[in-house]
Order: sequence, then structure tokens, then C-alpha cells
Amino acid sequence: MAEKRDYYEVLGLEKGASEEAIKKAYRQLAKKYHPDLNPGDKEAEKIFKEINEAYEVLSDPEKRAKYDRFGHAGVDPSYAAGSGFGGFGGFGFDFDLGDIFSSFFGGGASSARNRNAPRRGERVYAEVTVTFEEAAFGCEKEIPISRIEVCDVCSGTGCKEGTTAEICPTCRGSGTVTSQTRTAFGIIQNTVDCPNCHGRGKIIHQPCAQCKGHGLIRRNRKITVKIPEGIDDGQTISMAGQGNAGVNGGPPGDLYITVNVQPHEFFRREGNAVLYDLPISIVQAALGAEVEVPTLDGKVKYVIPEGTQTGTVFRLRGKGIPNLRGSGRGDQFVTVHVTVPTGLTPQQKELLRQFGESLGEQTDRQGKKKRRLR
Ligand SMILES: [Zn+2]
Ligand SMILES: [Zn+2]
Repeated sequence: MAEKRDYYEVLGLEKGASEEAIKKAYRQLAKKYHPDLNPGDKEAEKIFKEINEAYEVLSDPEKRAKYDRFGHAGVDPSYAAGSGFGGFGGFGFDFDLGDIFSSFFGGGASSARNRNAPRRGERVYAEVTVTFEEAAFGCEKEIPISRIEVCDVCSGTGCKEGTTAEICPTCRGSGTVTSQTRTAFGIIQNTVDCPNCHGRGKIIHQPCAQCKGHGLIRRNRKITVKIPEGIDDGQTISMAGQGNAGVNGGPPGDLYITVNVQPHEFFRREGNAVLYDLPISIVQAALGAEVEVPTLDGKVKYVIPEGTQTGTVFRLRGKGIPNLRGSGRGDQFVTVHVTVPTGLTPQQKELLRQFGESLGEQTDRQGKKKRRLR
């Protein structure tokens, strides 16, 4: 999904815009993108919704203050979808269609994006490798990341200490200049980046020595990440506000850390179940035995019943991986593998032959005879 646009940017305004300016920008844009004027134009409809969403927040002093501090996260993200914004009929506009048309052909509002509006910083991605047990029970890890931060020397102004930037006299700080062309259909406005300040809206005469006037600087940091118990290989942890610094005073982006879980020497994992293969001897399988089974909590005793077949699975309740969400733990599943003895002595072989014959089996001894007869 595309990143949600900044509300000021949507209305083509600066962060400190007056209530009057917000109202004016909203009215102009709403007229331009009104669905009645753009029948069947999905893009216009989308922009119209965006404009209304932005205005709903910025026209409300409380919502606006939250948005200014925390960005989109500060205002309930569901209100836009939940406001029942389906039909455009019951909308409290104080203009009629004639008004809209005159405005439309008389040169509407500029739709140029304001590049000096605050923008949220970009996401930063990192990886961390943990052991099987660390993933199961959680841990803390320090990971190196590289991210863009606000310059600590100039606090983001980009200016040398004791100096300030000059508001660009050409564009008066807006970063854009507008030219008007008269055509048969009316006046067409063309808005471009200010050539004097290259769209920044300000001119820095003495740049900060550390960030060279950018206000931002790349830093290598060590971040302590809390790995929650139950996390699985390939899952991602997000840390709000730990990504790249925002632009023009916008909020920072988030940090996303993908967790790689190292394979275990003898455990495997499926969801929150731990899988383990237990080798037992023919004698243990036939007669039954008490065996020790390794678990994440140490060894536990388990009684194998007599006559256990290879491939039998038994369950150790609550010995699996803790659930990532909620409480409780998964189970451990132990698959029995009956191993065939190798390297037997002549006496052991003889005992097995006798055992086989006691079951009425044809043993090696008889087999040899048969082969000789052929
Ligand atoms: Zn300028
Ligand atoms: Zn600086």
C-alpha cells in the first residue's frame, strides 16, 4: 500500500498554516476534485476523499495538534473509513455548482505538492540472528543499524551555530513560484520549484559544519531490541520512531527487524510445537523402558511402553514454544526411531538367531544351508 500522504501536503500548505488558509485551500481543492465535476474519475474521487480526510483533521484544533506531534498515528486511523463517507449529498458545503464552475474555469487552486511540508521519515530495515532457545524464551539483542538522524549540532536547522536561515525573498518561503497563462479556457496556473532556493523556501548562508546544511546526518547506532518469546524464523519486529528522521520536522519512520532463528542441534519447530526424534534400541522397544528425553526445560523421564513401534509419536504437553501472543505453550512431539544394532559379536548374533527361531523365523543359519543346496 502506498504511504499515506501528509495532510498539509494534501492541501498544499505549510505546517504552520492559519485556520483561514486551511479553509481556503480546502474549499478550492474540494471544488476542483468534487465528484460532480469529475464523473467516473476514480483518481479525482480518491483525491477528494484525501482532501476531506485532511480537512477533517486540520480543521479540528485538537486533532490537528495531535497530528502535528505524532503524524497519522496521532489521529485515529480508522475514523476516515468509519465516517460513512459514501454519498456526497449530505455534505455541508456552502457553495453551489455555479460557484464551482466559475471557480473551475477561472483558474482553480494549484495542485502542486508542497515539498517543504513535514514528511515522515523512511523505514529502516535490519536483521538479527538468535538461537532456537532465544527465540523460544525471548531475549534482548543489541543490533547495529545505520539511519538518518536530525543533526545534533544544528538541531536540524542546517545553519552554523548562532546563525539563522533567510526566508527566500523570491518565493517568500513557500518553495514554489506560480506563473499564469491566459488560454481560451481561462487562466492556467503553473507552479514550479522556486529557482532561487531550489524549493527549500529558505537560504542558508552559513551551513552547519557537520551536516553541510542538510539538517540531517547518517549515523551508525546500536539499538537494543527486545525479542519476544515465541518469535519464529522470518518474523519481523517493528520499533516505532526508530527509523530515519522525518523531513521538515515530520515524525521519524519505524525500524523493522527481521528475526533469523538458527537451527537447533536436535530440535525442530513447527508453529509452537517442538519436534524431536528419539532413538531407542530393539530391546527397549520390545520390552519397554524408562528413557530420558531432552526438552527446552532440560531432560524429562518418559516410560516407553513395551511393544513400541518405530514411528510412534508421543506428546509432552506444555514442553513446546511459548505462544507469541497470549499465554501458554505448545507441546513437544517425540517420534520414536527403533535402531537396529550393528557390529554384533558372534555370541550376540547366535542369541538373536536363537531368538528368531523361537519366533519360528527362518534364520541366517537355515538361509546359508538353502543357498548351499542350490
Ligand atoms: Zn525560494
Ligand atoms: Zn547540522
